[in-house]
Amino acid sequence: MSDPGVQASIHKNLKTTLPRVYNYINSTRFREVNLVDRLYPDSKPVELSHWALPGGSGAWEGWSFAEITQQTFSPTSIGSSYGPTWTTHWFRLVFTIPDEWAGSEVQLRWSSNSEAAVWSEDGKILQGLSTGDPDARRSCYTITTNHQAGQGGPYTFYVEMAVNKLLGASEGDLIDPPSPDVYYTVSRAEVARLDGVVYKLTRDLEVLHQLAEKLIDLNDQRGYQALYTANQMVNSIIAGEDSVASSLADEYFSKGNGSRSHTLATIGNCHIDSAWLWPYTETKRKVARSFSSQLALMDRYPEHIFVASQAQQWAWCKEYYPELYARVLERVAEGRFLPVGSTWTEMDGNIPSGESFIRQFLHGQRFFKKELGITCNEFWLPDTFGYSAQIPALMNHMGLKRFLTQKMSWSLVNRFPHHNFTWEGIDGSTVLAHFPPGDSYSMQVTVEEAVKTERNLQDKGRASTSAFLFGYGDGGGGPTQDMLEKIQRLKDSDGCPRMSMMTPDQMFTQLESEQHNFCRWVGELYLELHNGTYTTHAAMKRLCRQTEFELRDAELLLCQAVATLGSQGASQLLQESLTTLEGAWHKLLLNQFHDVLPGSGIAMIYPEAQVLYNEAIQAAITVRDNAAAAVFGNAGEKTEVLVNTLPWARTEVVTVGGSKAGAGSYAMVSVPSMGIASPTSLTPTSPVSVTEVDGKYVLENGMIHAEIDSFGRVTSLKVVGDERDVFQPPSYQTSETTEEMYGNQLMLYDDEPLYWDAWDVMDYHLETPVVLNDGKSGYTITAPVIVENSALICSVRWGVTFGSSTLTQDIQLTADSPLLTFLTSVTWGENRKFLKTVQSTSLHSNKASFDIQFGHLERPTHMNTSWDSARYEICGHKWADISEPDWGVAVLNDSKYGWMARGHTLALSLLRSPKAPDASADIGDHTFKYALFPHLGTLQQAGVMKRGYEFNTPILHLQAPADRGEETWVDVTGEGVVLHTVKPAEDGSGEIVLRLYECNGTRSKVTLNLKWPVTSVKACDGMEVAGSDIPFTQEEGVTSVPLAFTPFAIRAVRLTLQ
Ligand SMILES: [Zn+2]
Repeated sequence: MSDPGVQASIHKNLKTTLPRVYNYINSTRFREVNLVDRLYPDSKPVELSHWALPGGSGAWEGWSFAEITQQTFSPTSIGSSYGPTWTTHWFRLVFTIPDEWAGSEVQLRWSSNSEAAVWSEDGKILQGLSTGDPDARRSCYTITTNHQAGQGGPYTFYVEMAVNKLLGASEGDLIDPPSPDVYYTVSRAEVARLDGVVYKLTRDLEVLHQLAEKLIDLNDQRGYQALYTANQMVNSIIAGEDSVASSLADEYFSKGNGSRSHTLATIGNCHIDSAWLWPYTETKRKVARSFSSQLALMDRYPEHIFVASQAQQWAWCKEYYPELYARVLERVAEGRFLPVGSTWTEMDGNIPSGESFIRQFLHGQRFFKKELGITCNEFWLPDTFGYSAQIPALMNHMGLKRFLTQKMSWSLVNRFPHHNFTWEGIDGSTVLAHFPPGDSYSMQVTVEEAVKTERNLQDKGRASTSAFLFGYGDGGGGPTQDMLEKIQRLKDSDGCPRMSMMTPDQMFTQLESEQHNFCRWVGELYLELHNGTYTTHAAMKRLCRQTEFELRDAELLLCQAVATLGSQGASQLLQESLTTLEGAWHKLLLNQFHDVLPGSGIAMIYPEAQVLYNEAIQAAITVRDNAAAAVFGNAGEKTEVLVNTLPWARTEVVTVGGSKAGAGSYAMVSVPSMGIASPTSLTPTSPVSVTEVDGKYVLENGMIHAEIDSFGRVTSLKVVGDERDVFQPPSYQTSETTEEMYGNQLMLYDDEPLYWDAWDVMDYHLETPVVLNDGKSGYTITAPVIVENSALICSVRWGVTFGSSTLTQDIQLTADSPLLTFLTSVTWGENRKFLKTVQSTSLHSNKASFDIQFGHLERPTHMNTSWDSARYEICGHKWADISEPDWGVAVLNDSKYGWMARGHTLALSLLRSPKAPDASADIGDHTFKYALFPHLGTLQQAGVMKRGYEFNTPILHLQAPADRGEETWVDVTGEGVVLHTVKPAEDGSGEIVLRLYECNGTRSKVTLNLKWPVTSVKACDGMEVAGSDIPFTQEEGVTSVPLAFTPFAIRAVRLTLQ
């Protein structure tokens, strides 16, 4: 049935009717006879003057609005240009509004072809502006919606112009490094009268045209109804009957959907990358521009709800824009401006440690609770490059059951089969996961997007609601007035899925009511793209790992100080240290942002991130040393004491009486679990030796036997007493596999991705291996020489020069250690090359294991399916292991995250050399270490995870009175549980939170033994909220707490001390 009152076009000619409608709102052609030039019937220029804020990026942070407006502004005019890149320019705009404009909406129209913000004369940031190519996203500010005669001013406003665009300052391709010397031209600065009727008709025609185009394409007759309505509107407008045209549109949009139609939960948001193609300092302004724009929209659209993630960005708003923040809080109180996502930043989803993930939630939620009185109920991470298999358990630990992302739609090979599913982690815990089926977090509110969202949904018949996240993103901005107007027309328009403004809470509540219909996905959400980010910008990874471990040490020492002094006696130290630690964690958490830690940002981000990391490390060391001084006291003569912060006893070779790098003497020492010992040298039970035999170097220590050839490769690696060799085929090997087996083959691959340079390593890189150290590549090898040869430590040094790079390695074995360690220095100067150390082993296994956050993950070593095949570069933390049931080899590292496990080969990725968006990424000097650990039994029986911790947690050398003997502060009896975290409760109460996890994937019962004056032990969650009492016993000053764990379970307990 046709719409009554609608006159169809005379001719059945879609090729003319459809473009005719579009041409009537076309801003590039026919504008003087269509609606476009009618939109602003009157305008007048403003009086414009300019002041250049001195300095470049971030200089604005040193200036208050009052200081700025007191500067001398010089008259300027339209057509003038301002720069260079990252500078700031202020404009004063003075104008009057004519009485003849009474009754109309009056706007300030601006274009500087850059990002900008409008400020009031009294220093309020009113709204962001984003103008210029490719589209003017926000180019006007409404001064009044209803001008009154006699109130024509004069008015004064200010515009703050940033010399960068929404997505940075590249004049070439999006991800090219920013151009250093761009100037942008102010091409418009005027006040104008808006014709409200024309604005409405424009939006009506825009939406009707989209409906016609999309639905006709789907051969849906409702598209023709939209088309004929629009066509008749054009005829009416031409006839001078705007009101008839308006009524036709209203009538069309009043026809609703059937009751089973799909609902799009329209959620206004702006994804602001905390740094990407711009530095942190610009993000602070992006937050202010975006937030102020949303407040302006809320004044006008009562239904508008906006969500903002990343507590860090809220904290920036509070610090740098307190007046704006106060206005945001008013809308928060109304439930319209909402925090979302729970976390401090939207972090990388693979690389941060388990504890870092928990602190992302802890600091994010604490901020939102304290500042806004709100606790988020979801984890919101739309734009990260893959998601660890441990995330469901970490979320459960934090009391969260809802997860949202859309990035999996970027996978290059396999289409993820669900948009709604129950996601199960490695411990069996589950969360509800939702992917917006429109595959975007920055919808523009088009019919095309709405229909795509419904038709793309992988769970048809199972889910009635899908998220539709709208608003400009990446560079910020958020929803615009046009988007809200389009939602008003499409909220229930027959043929297009329903749109309903919802909070994330409302949307997830709806999805939870349907969760019984959803399928289950177990394990990681592996993104089949961007897997070069496990390696790019090696310093970010190294410093992240180091900061995580330094903070761990500091928190343990601080707890020991609290236990020593009592919570009263330690009160001042505790409060000061908690403040210091909070600052340090915030720096670490910020640097884990998903373009900083992955290495996918522009060059200027990284020196600042390094400073933040180093400040965090220094803060941790300060807290640690102050705490140690409190533990050990200040009286008496001091001497060196060794501190082991791991929850098991360690015996190893360390340097004593000097710096680790210096020629100080070596000692074999033993330090108890989470405790101290004097640096007394023990006699090793397994002294080490190195000998040269026929050009090969044999390193042996009674535990392992290794042979190094003249190219620095490992040709033999065995557990002493066991005939099986990691790098030699067994004697009964058939002739089918004659491949040479070596350890530490340094392989260089060509590394030219399809587009995303810093992000991607493509599958075809594996077709281009060059072995640097096999004598065939022609590179200059510096043959091995013995550089250390004692009963405690033996080292062989070799090197290779290749391309524009050099690499030097000390291959080291110490007494009583099963690790063959490679201490590596590289001067790296390559272009699109990828360096790995490849272990081509004799082991036969269809799977390999990888250390991840608070547990480990098994992945196939074969390419049976397209899913297996696509995982050619994968993420792991401190170690990976390939084992047969009763022996195997693990590879340990101190700062790397990229791996490959294929067949019998286990490769660790070392360095990349992408050129965009940072042409200098990773060029320069690097030091890192990795180790081979041949073992008997399973990785669990061999204690691979313990070795991984030891490799990353050096025994500390601190100062204590000479009479301090050996002490154990905390230990764990029983196997399989790692006491990872010992920290003061975040609330400053002096209570202590311990976090433990089951690391073997088995059921484990252990007893936690604390030499502390414990008065109560309670279970708690990651938010540190105390729950039920846990029984404990006390004897001779030791509190013993029995704890049981299911496989990979994460548990926390909260202690009260005297
Ligand atoms: Zn992002």
